[in-house]
Amino acid sequence: MDFSQVQKLAAVHGTPTLFLSEGRLRESYRELQSALPGVTLYYAVKSNAGSEIISILKSEGSSFDICTNGEIDIVAKAGIGPSQCIHTHPIKRDGDIRYALDFGVTTFVADNEYELMKFIPYKDRAEVLIRMSIQNPNCLVNLSHKFGVAPELTFDLIRKGADMGLRIKGICFHCGSQNQNSLKYIEALEYCRDICRKAALRGIRIEIIDIGGGFPIDYLTPVPPLAEFCAPVNEYLERYFSNYRIIAEPGRVLSGPSMTLATRIVGKSQRNGIWWYYCDEGVYGSFSGKIYDHADYPMSIARSSERFNSVLAGPTCDSVDIPYENIALPILEIGDLLVFDAMGAYTTASASNFNGFEKAKIVVVA
Ligand SMILES: *Cc1c(COP(=O)(O)O)cnc(C)c1O
Repeated sequence: MDFSQVQKLAAVHGTPTLFLSEGRLRESYRELQSALPGVTLYYAVKSNAGSEIISILKSEGSSFDICTNGEIDIVAKAGIGPSQCIHTHPIKRDGDIRYALDFGVTTFVADNEYELMKFIPYKDRAEVLIRMSIQNPNCLVNLSHKFGVAPELTFDLIRKGADMGLRIKGICFHCGSQNQNSLKYIEALEYCRDICRKAALRGIRIEIIDIGGGFPIDYLTPVPPLAEFCAPVNEYLERYFSNYRIIAEPGRVLSGPSMTLATRIVGKSQRNGIWWYYCDEGVYGSFSGKIYDHADYPMSIARSSERFNSVLAGPTCDSVDIPYENIALPILEIGDLLVFDAMGAYTTASASNFNGFEKAKIVVVA
């Protein structure tokens, strides 16, 4: 969203506010779907569970990746049916499995034997995807640090699941969030080919390949267009997986670009020769993504005068609440507006009401 548009909106709605561009969200969905034509998209609700985002994506025809009872409640409230959902949390309590089954979800994920055993009582109702770990230390968030079975051990786990009488239907993986190397998907798919071949020899038919999320968006450094980024993945899928059902779990690439934050300077002070600016949003709010997601958002301001190395602090009384310790800023005045783009993913999702500050409100812009 451009600065002058946000300026007008902020004058009406106040700050801190996250403006959700409905057009941008729809555009991201359509762009990804056309970049991955044969792939069913399950939006990763974790990245932003806002009801407005969920219902816009629902109207685009999206399916949904849910991980918890709370996320099931969110999609159910939006009128989304269980056949449009998969449950992808690799570690669940028995009650979580039952909650999802009662809702009607039948596709689950496991990455170890203990988890597979939890499905024995439900083996006629549940299908299981095995989560394989794909290490990617170069991306923003390595989602295979905590979950996933090593590729070399994946077939063995599939076999164990089948021996338990479970319906092992597929393999899933996550190449890491904001992954800028599409060859990571190919690396994972290479493993999948080998595993599927071994499984077929044992009479186990793998039908689903779930390529996860991780698709990158523009933050401070631009990334290639989605069509270009996905082209090698598509080509590989067409060549080797045309007989499989291919699904993906995009989060950031859909929610990320859709939101723009408007925040205002509420105080300023010169400390040890450095300008400190205090704004009305911080790391306990939408800038929580600076801490948990390690993201850096593109900023725009109205002033174009000389910039000085400054500090941009959040509104709470905690000293960790400093979104930017070293940021080049012109001399700002109290009341100045700061606009941050690409703030839809892992921002409001991890925001809190710490210190009595309300979360930034969300306003949908058509
Ligand atoms: C977080 C997560 C996603 C979404 O990842 P993005 O990088 O935001 O696309 C998808 N699948 C699983 C299992 C996740 O944990």
